[in-house]
Amino acid sequence: EKMDKGLAKTRKSFSDIMNEFMANFRTVDEEFFENLEEALITADVGFETALRISDELRQEVKLKKAKKPEEVQQAIIQKLVEIYEAQGMEENNELNLQEEGLTVMLFVGVNGVGKTTSIGKLANQYREEGKKVLMAAADTFRAGAIDQLVVWGERAGVEVVRGKAGGDPAAVVYDAIERAKEEKADILLVDTAGRLQNKVNLMKELEKIKRVIQREIPEAPHEVLLVVDATTGQNAMVQAKQFKETTDVTGLVLTKLDGTAKGGMVLAIRNELHLPVKLVGLGEGIDDLQAFDPNEFIYGLFK
Ligand code: GDP
Repeated sequence: EKMDKGLAKTRKSFSDIMNEFMANFRTVDEEFFENLEEALITADVGFETALRISDELRQEVKLKKAKKPEEVQQAIIQKLVEIYEAQGMEENNELNLQEEGLTVMLFVGVNGVGKTTSIGKLANQYREEGKKVLMAAADTFRAGAIDQLVVWGERAGVEVVRGKAGGDPAAVVYDAIERAKEEKADILLVDTAGRLQNKVNLMKELEKIKRVIQREIPEAPHEVLLVVDATTGQNAMVQAKQFKETTDVTGLVLTKLDGTAKGGMVLAIRNELHLPVKLVGLGEGIDDLQAFDPNEFIYGLFK
């Protein structure tokens, strides 16, 4: 499995931390729980989540009178899955695809996180499924962003609607919607400029893009996906927090999970920000993007 292979590194590092911790532990005492907290924080599950896991495990271990490391490890896995699932009861974990008509997805995120790459990969997947896909190059701010998306368009065999560099992003989105209607497209993927340095401008730009879309399709955009780079750990958390304050994010694309020990942050994002991870990037290749499966992910971390 691709997700299995891609996660080998994440898993190894996370389980290295946990194995080391398990190897050193003799009895389930207060020191054990303190060390467990530390191990979980190192694995980037987030401070709050780490405290919560160890608090709840204190009760459970007492209750079950668990003494062996394997029993405790099993309890930890169960607790992680439980916390992940309980946190996301109201969340929509799947991409909101319309059965009929055009589905519009906006992609937001700062430069370098893998936004263009993820859009290109997703466009290719949908095209392979036989869907009619369009991409809109509405990141008119960063030099090179348009060309980069065009390169992905060629790779994925998907048309890119573009305007002038420095032009009005909302005008590009308007053109893209018109084009999508003409072509009876199923899916429109919109690349945007993620300038967090100027939150007010970013907010205005995204609002304008949304207004243009909603004039044509009132219930769109169907997804606003925030792309974050998993290798940046807590920094990705900070970005997610700031974007969430700026616009209505519907889910996350977590990229570069193939190169990090910070897989635990999936739990932090869910627990502290209440945002579902919808897609994960597991490499630079065109096929290295997958739907996120929480159970597979959490069990995988301990293999
Ligand atoms: P953007 O500025 O957000 O549009 O970022 P790009 O799409 O240009 O990606 C930045 C770099 O990250 C490129 O070198 C990509 O190949 C790389 N990248 C994107 N996604 C992944 C991923 O899932 N895994 C790895 N290893 N690299 C990735």
